[in-house]
Amino acid sequence: AGTVPDREALVEVVPSSMASPVGASRTDRRWTYAQLYDDAQRCASWLLQRVESGDRICVWAPNVPEWVVLQYGAALAGVILVTANPAFKPSELEFVLRQSRSSALFHLSSFREVDTGAIARELEGLGIHRYCFEGWLDEIRNTPEAALPEIDSQHPAQIQYTSGTTGKPKGALLHHRGLVTNASYVAARAGLEDSVLLSPMPLFHTAGSVMSVLGCMTSRATLVLPLFFDPPTVLQAIEASRAQVLFGVPTMLLALIEAMKATPHDLSSLRVALSGGAPVSPEIHRRVKDALGLPVVTVFGQTELSPIVAQTSDDDPEFERLHTVGKPLWNVEVRIADPGDFRVLPTGTEGEIQVRGYQTMIGYFDAPDDTQQAITSDGWLRTGDLGTIDEGGYIRVTGRLKDMIIRGGENIYPVEIEACLLRHPEVADVAVFGAPDEKWGEVVAAAVRLSSSASGCAERLTAHCRDAMAPHKTPILWFACSEFPLTASGKVQKFRLREALAAGSLERMD
Ligand code: ATP
Repeated sequence: AGTVPDREALVEVVPSSMASPVGASRTDRRWTYAQLYDDAQRCASWLLQRVESGDRICVWAPNVPEWVVLQYGAALAGVILVTANPAFKPSELEFVLRQSRSSALFHLSSFREVDTGAIARELEGLGIHRYCFEGWLDEIRNTPEAALPEIDSQHPAQIQYTSGTTGKPKGALLHHRGLVTNASYVAARAGLEDSVLLSPMPLFHTAGSVMSVLGCMTSRATLVLPLFFDPPTVLQAIEASRAQVLFGVPTMLLALIEAMKATPHDLSSLRVALSGGAPVSPEIHRRVKDALGLPVVTVFGQTELSPIVAQTSDDDPEFERLHTVGKPLWNVEVRIADPGDFRVLPTGTEGEIQVRGYQTMIGYFDAPDDTQQAITSDGWLRTGDLGTIDEGGYIRVTGRLKDMIIRGGENIYPVEIEACLLRHPEVADVAVFGAPDEKWGEVVAAAVRLSSSASGCAERLTAHCRDAMAPHKTPILWFACSEFPLTASGKVQKFRLREALAAGSLERMD
């Protein structure tokens, strides 16, 4: 705010078919850096009249600008922000509120036909104060400014619940230094300084609150913030804002490509797409290049690491840009170790990616056993991801320990099969997972979002895999999916596919 007070910091984007979710008289509100800082200071003063530094407050809302004001205000007040997925059902929200022992809940009175106000009222029994975002900005703007406390850089800033691609969320307690430093590094390597970033990544996830919000704030960039991921709205907003950088997980980029086919837009302002959170295969690079004309910068990390560990850069050779997640960001150690005894493995050998540095979470909130399992006694965070590091220092992510399919003792990584299937023109998107099998323990199953409705796909895709890979990797169960079960950050929840398979609700592909 001090260096570029008049520059736009935040631009709201609401789908044209919707009214403002906070009842504002006009949509697409805008904040300069000076205005955002002023609101954040007022918010901090307002908060400190109601809660104490170190208390937890929970925000359960989609990407409204009020969310960002609250994030910034809470940081200035030393109040810990607990982020809840706006798609949470009451029991999931209750879990997060109880687990984090939050004293206040911030929400909308309703959102997309859900009476969120009524749900929040029912949870008041937990001894929680409720604040609706409608009219909230006016209220904080009328609060006299109070003296704000000095906050230590290692003070906890946020509890981010991991996105739940593998099960029950755990609350990673992250500190200011980790978040702000990490965001500035990501922004620097992506060349975000003084640019316009369009990010539909959800704020409750670190990709939104850290990489998008803090990434922009630490690099004088403007954040264009769609209320939620809606491909036509995102395309329109890119055109209107002349955004230079687009951020989205691979499934979002693929959905934007499909939407561009239906209604083309002028995306010529874009320079690069930032992607990660899930494997970004060479085929995704190719599709984004062909359809949107953009190179993809890949990021790799996880919530527990504030969140990014490695990132490609424009300067990387093409092969490394397409096949690896780049080199580690600054000031962090990365090693490949045996997941059983943590022995460091020779260069090029596959093992668990383990990370040590300033950005590691303080721990899982109120879950010492989980923390102890995640961080070794000498400070290495176990990512649960499998990969290699080559001579040049480039990291390749080969799979997840938890997603690995073990067929008759043979380890199979879905990433490789998904990348192979995406090369087939009839495949719009795919998720490969292990299905229980009496003979083999597990076999390979593929759920495919098809780009055509032609019959005989299963046969053609089987032949395609057989041509490219060893026979045991070829899926033997094929399902057609029009939609995948996704986390709000757009990642496929494979455990839900396995549940659907067990319940017999997946549709066989012929
Ligand atoms: P949960 O912990 O509940 O399973 P989650 O793992 O999806 O949820 P996040 O912290 O959102 O939680 O995601 C981090 C994970 O996403 C990483 O551990 C890794 O498996 C995957 N990931 C992130 N970036 C990449 C990438 N560029 N390539 C491959 N995988 C990635």
